[in-house]
Amino acid sequence: MVEINSTRLLDDLAALRRIGGQGTGVVREAFTATDLEGRRWLARRFAEAGLRPVWDPIGNLFGLPPTGRPTVLIGSHSDTQPECGWLDGSYGVVCGLEIARAAQEAGLQGLAVVSFADEEGSFEPLLGSRVWSGELPFSAIQDRTDRRGRRLRDVLAGMPELRAAEQVPPQLFKAYIEAHIEQGPVLDDAGEAIGVVETIVGMQHVEVAIMGDQNHAGTTPMDRRQDAVMGFVAFAHAVDEAFRSEAGPSTVWTFGRVTVSPNATSIVPGRTDATLQIRDPEQARLNRLTARAQMIAKNISANGSIEIRTQVTAKLPPAPLNAALVSTLTSAAERLVPRRWWRMVSGALHDAVPVSRIMPSAMLFVPSIAGKSH
Ligand SMILES: [Zn+2]
Repeated sequence: MVEINSTRLLDDLAALRRIGGQGTGVVREAFTATDLEGRRWLARRFAEAGLRPVWDPIGNLFGLPPTGRPTVLIGSHSDTQPECGWLDGSYGVVCGLEIARAAQEAGLQGLAVVSFADEEGSFEPLLGSRVWSGELPFSAIQDRTDRRGRRLRDVLAGMPELRAAEQVPPQLFKAYIEAHIEQGPVLDDAGEAIGVVETIVGMQHVEVAIMGDQNHAGTTPMDRRQDAVMGFVAFAHAVDEAFRSEAGPSTVWTFGRVTVSPNATSIVPGRTDATLQIRDPEQARLNRLTARAQMIAKNISANGSIEIRTQVTAKLPPAPLNAALVSTLTSAAERLVPRRWWRMVSGALHDAVPVSRIMPSAMLFVPSIAGKSH
């Protein structure tokens, strides 16, 4: 069995943390100076480990083994949210590096590492892994801009490494494995050592527009009002009640975005816009809940003076991970940490989502202290 060097793993994690480190966290937004510094550091570490650093045209960084044989790819991302914990993504990349390095030292070849570009969505969520897996055409996102107003095309043209970019065909790899911090409290609360992910949830978005009647908040009698915020409250409450009775063990939902118009203290709101996000590992339940929310909107509109319009704007299917890999990982977990591991659903999206659609993929979760990651 290949033994990893845990001191070297932790040293590398600490070294990567220092690049863009701020307070207790780290700031390495995709394609900024700190992100590139971090990934150039990784490229050097790959080379020192005997892996050939290769950048592909969208800016993914691979560490490829010297042999041309098909391999197993291990990795994640090393970019961060504008404010981020230091282990999100980095853990999986450095894990891949250490496993490939330890395997090489043990005379075992064929493991490759990847740091996917822009997982956190400065330009597009899961940008690097979605382009690499063919889900998102390279040409379609060239004019995308980030919050700094930079165009992706210009950012890529400004990276000297990409002048020698190579395509890394997914067919080189037999499987993809991603280790990631859980980013939730479940494993840490239960005192478990590791989670084997079986499915990554799917997600649907319902955009909701509640149409009221904008008017003076002092002179309009209560019985003459069509208050768009009150309409939203009634709708959100009805959805929450209905979903609680229909939810599965992993269903989650939220109205994370709500805007009120005109958003003024002395005006009865004329319109409220909101986004209902629903996540679940089962496609059928996702469809059912979305339809239920739309039905509730219809009923409220039919029974009162407030009209609620809905539109489904995102439908991302769940990503079941490879059953054979999951069973290999659960047997390994039982051998190494008996009865201290769980089968889990991932409620967060990861690079493993697009990659799982083109090759057998698996994910491992390590506990997040108190469930914090950002
Ligand atoms: Zn992540």
